[in-house]
Amino acid sequence: MAVVIEPIARLVNSLSKLPGVGGKTAQRLAYFIINMPASDVREMSEALIEAKEKVHYCSVCGNFTDRERCSVCVDARRDPSVICVVKDPRDVNAMERTGEYRGLYHVLHGTLSPMDGVGPDDIRIRELMTRLTAEVKEVILATNPDVEGEATAMYIARLIKPMGIRVTRIAHGIPVGGDLEYTDEVTLLKALEGRCEL
Ligand code: ZN
Repeated sequence: MAVVIEPIARLVNSLSKLPGVGGKTAQRLAYFIINMPASDVREMSEALIEAKEKVHYCSVCGNFTDRERCSVCVDARRDPSVICVVKDPRDVNAMERTGEYRGLYHVLHGTLSPMDGVGPDDIRIRELMTRLTAEVKEVILATNPDVEGEATAMYIARLIKPMGIRVTRIAHGIPVGGDLEYTDEVTLLKALEGRCEL
C-alpha cells in the first residue's frame, strides 16, 4: 500500500488544477518543489498570492493591470479611433509583439459558445458597445479563427455595423483552428495588414 503524505497529496492536488497538468506531472512538480531551496519556494508562493490579489481587469478595456487603467489605455500616443477586440489578455500581448498596432484594445474574456452555455451577456460585449463613441472609427475583430471566434466576430459585427463604424476582421495568415497566442509576430502582422471589411 502506498504511503500518503498529506502535505504532498495537498500540493499534488493543487498543482493538478493547472491546465495541461495531469496527475503524473503534478507529482513530478510537487517533488521538484519540495527539493527546491526554501527561499525559492517562499518567493513562488508570494508571487502567486501577489499576482492574484493585485491583478484585475482594466476599467476601460478589460486587459489585466495592477492599476486602475492598463498601460495601453493610459498611453496618450495610442490611437483612440481604433479598437482591436480580442478574446483574452494573452492576445493583447501577442498583438503588442507585432510592434505595429497603435490603437486600443477590448478584451472580451471569452467567446460565444452556445454549446458551453456562453452567451453575449457572459462576455464583455456590452462594455465594448459603451466604448463606441463618435471618436471610434474602426473596430478590428481579432478573435481566434476557430468556430467560436468566428461566431463571436460575426455577432459583434452585426451589432456595430449599423452604427456606421468600420468593422474589420483579421483574415490571412492565421491557420484555421489556430491560436493567436501561439502565432509568430510575422504571421500575426500579415493577418493584421490583411484584415478585411465585414
Ligand atoms: Zn486598458
